[in-house]
Amino acid sequence: MIRQQAQEMSLRFDSYPENEQFARMAVTAFLMDLNPMVDEMADIKTAVSEAVTNAILHGYEGVIGQVYLVCKKQGADVALTITDYGKGIEDIEKAREPFFTTKPEAERSGMGFAFMEAFMDEVHIASTPGRGTCVEMKKRLQLPVRE
Ligand code: ATP
Ligand code: MG
Repeated sequence: MIRQQAQEMSLRFDSYPENEQFARMAVTAFLMDLNPMVDEMADIKTAVSEAVTNAILHGYEGVIGQVYLVCKKQGADVALTITDYGKGIEDIEKAREPFFTTKPEAERSGMGFAFMEAFMDEVHIASTPGRGTCVEMKKRLQLPVRE
């Protein structure tokens, strides 16, 4: 049975690269009771992974700061926010463009936001240079359609 009341969980973790996996697994575990389809869960995991990796690599750029993740579920609707208080984004429109990266030397492909947009229904980015970035993403799961 899908619970109709909204439920929320939040995490705060240090921006060590290995915590990207921790964040992805925590979201997976939180959403498990919705019994999402494998490909829907894969989409959400990829989106979380891209947003958290951006907070760690670009937001805090080698210093250790705090990453905040909130995941809400209500019926078939899933909403995620990933926030850092790092360096922020100068030009959000540019950052959203496929293949745009400020770290070409680090072999970044500039596809993180493009993947988030492709895999989620909505992606909103709020960012202020010098203050930080908040990425909000939403997806409606296809529930409950399985036998
Ligand atoms: P990839 O994700 O393919 O490894 P990338 O991280 O450079 O490469 P995107 O995830 O699309 O590509 O991000 C585009 C650009 O937006 C980044 O290069 C970076 O300049 C900026 N950016 C993204 N997230 C943040 C963030 N949390 N803080 C500061 N800058 C960010
Ligand atoms: Mg990225």
